[in-house]
Formats: sequence, C-alpha cells, structure tokens
Amino acid sequence: MATPLVVNVVELLRWPGTTKDVVVDVAADDLEFNDARISNETVSIALHLESLSNGVSVAGTAAATWHGECRRCLAPLSERMVVDVSELYQQIPEDPEAYSIENDQINLLPMVRENLLVAVPLGPLCREDCPGFCPQCGSDLAEGACGCDTTVSDPRWAALEGLKGRLPDPPV
Ligand SMILES: [Zn+2]
Ligand SMILES: [Zn+2]
Repeated sequence: MATPLVVNVVELLRWPGTTKDVVVDVAADDLEFNDARISNETVSIALHLESLSNGVSVAGTAAATWHGECRRCLAPLSERMVVDVSELYQQIPEDPEAYSIENDQINLLPMVRENLLVAVPLGPLCREDCPGFCPQCGSDLAEGACGCDTTVSDPRWAALEGLKGRLPDPPV
C-alpha cells in the first residue's frame, strides 16, 4: 500500500527550483515509533520539498503528542509538540547528515520519526519550579510544606568552619 510519506521526486529532480508540499495526518502507529512515550494521537505533518542542485530540501513541521510523568512529583504529563524539521535528501549522499533518495523516491517516514523521537523531553517537569517530594517524609511539597528539617549540612563544610580563625591569613 502506498503511504503518503513516500514521495516520488522524479519531477523535482528534473527541474531544480521545483517544489512540492506534503501536508498529511497519519496514525502514530504508521510511524512505528516503538516508544511508549509517543501517544496514539494523530501525527500531523506539513513539509515543503524543494529541489536544489545538490538534492531535495525538506522543511516544515511535524506534530505529535508525547506523554510521561514529571521527574520530580511523578504527575502524569501529556503535551502536543510541534517540531521544526529541516533536512536534505540526496541521490548520492555527500552530506553525512543527508537522507538518501532511492529509486527516485523520498521516504519521509524514518526522518519524521527520528525528528519527533529526539524532541521528546527526557526529564519533563509539570512546572519549572515543581518542588517534588520531601526527601524525608515523602509528602508532596506542592501541597504545602511538611515541616521536616531539610537543611542540608555537609560534614566537609563543617570541618572547614572549625578551621576558621586557626589558619594564617592568606598572602595579599
Ligand atoms: Zn511535578
Ligand atoms: Zn517531609
């Protein structure tokens, strides 16, 4: 079955400057993410292909929904991300970053998948200043202070404190 993400580029390769737009919604399953962080919601793709002297440039956006949990308080999170895409396809790849054009076809699928996967945040936070859990009693600090003394005292600093006044003044 033909997928809208495999694009025949015979015309583009013939005439540098030719453009083609690929605007399509595909099921997340079709992209074969194999990654539980990507939700089943539709992936929206809007790409502009342009024939250059050294290949075909592909630029635009891909949008997908990821879900995960806050790395501090474990609250469930889900967000629609829109990723900017800018890639080059070449018949004979010279650029190490370039994707290859095979049989006059560009397969956008692996490229879109890679761009989306690297954009999923690794340690998401529910909010920038999420206080997370108390390291002592485990209560959710977003609900309010728990009353534990969480002042960190480092024994190495305590030792230095004790030396204060007993060391000679540093040379000026
Ligand atoms: Zn949080
Ligand atoms: Zn506590």
